[in-house]
Amino acid sequence: MARVRVGVVGYGTIGRRLASAVLRQDDMALVGVVKETPDYRARLALQRGIRLYAVNEEGARAFEKRGMAVAGTLEDLLGQVDVCLDASPEGIGAENRRLYESKGVRAVFQGGEEPEVADLSFVAQCNYERARGARFVRVVSCNTTALCRALHAIDGAFGIERAVAVLARRAADPHETSKGPIDAIVPDPVSIPSHHAQDVRTVLQNLNIVTMALKVPTTHMHAHSIMVDLKREASAQQVAERLASSPRLLVVSSSEGFKSTAHLIDYARELGRERGDLYEAVIWGDSLHVEGRRLFFFMAIHQEAIVAPENIDAIRAMLNLVDGAASMAKTDRSLGILSGQLKLEARAA
Ligand code: NAD
Repeated sequence: MARVRVGVVGYGTIGRRLASAVLRQDDMALVGVVKETPDYRARLALQRGIRLYAVNEEGARAFEKRGMAVAGTLEDLLGQVDVCLDASPEGIGAENRRLYESKGVRAVFQGGEEPEVADLSFVAQCNYERARGARFVRVVSCNTTALCRALHAIDGAFGIERAVAVLARRAADPHETSKGPIDAIVPDPVSIPSHHAQDVRTVLQNLNIVTMALKVPTTHMHAHSIMVDLKREASAQQVAERLASSPRLLVVSSSEGFKSTAHLIDYARELGRERGDLYEAVIWGDSLHVEGRRLFFFMAIHQEAIVAPENIDAIRAMLNLVDGAASMAKTDRSLGILSGQLKLEARAA
């Protein structure tokens, strides 16, 4: 079968990871990436054999001035692809949609876009089937992806009456030197609930959830404190087993040295993952605590990486290539994704 021809639009934090993930799929071909600025990232992409496309003619001239070859513009790319992964900055994706429509190209948008940009908001293990055949899909944000993965797993086994999540959000990605805060904790937004609850409900429509968000001076991960009122009684061990057996969730223990987000990133680097990425949402197994039917736990999310597998699965769903379980298994193999406590221990042994 011919490979799906994929273009990546926007080659920043997320776009670079999406391009790398596409290159690892044996049923997809990366036609090229759209890059706005002729910087070191563009030069590295060329050195890796990735074709660059400029946003427009003016952009193309800027690349040529720097001696970087471009294969054309975004419009040229659209004539050569079946689907675009749009990882441009918030709001640009919605503008690009008009272009995708006029060229008959399917597109996957990211969480910075409004839900209305697409036919549906997507997390593979929650609603893969609904995305089959869709023209436009929106992969939800990093925080929302993790909340959906974990809460969907818990809801399926024990039922959720109500969930409350307090999000400590990284202030900036590592290269964003002009963002802060450097020395403050910022309620962001101050109003409660934060928009994350509504975003979770774009995927898990009936979930009763309230979210509150704080921005904290760190760059490498988000951390969530989560409380869930279960419909049925469950022990912490039963919840741990459920989470450990669910896709793209890792259950780790502080007794093995996972004492902070820094240790999780250190672990991903030791695994030899490209860019030190952690695609799994990570749950501290020893934080799982139950009082009556109320469950408490901590979860960490590598914001730069977690949505990469979802984008790959979204492509297979939209093009009706395989079912959800087959796509997720294929994606997970290609990216070396670990699932569950037992697999983690097996890998560490
Ligand atoms: P980014 O700023 O790192 O990357 C965006 C890139 O697009 C930049 O390199 C920019 O130069 C380029 N660009 C600007 N205008 C463009 C245009 N017209 N066409 C093509 N490229 C253009 O942003 P990001 O963090 O990668 O975010 C991309 C999307 O992913 C956003 O919707 C964001 O909300 C979402 N997202 C980000 C994160 C994260 O933690 N960074 C996590 C999940 C989802």
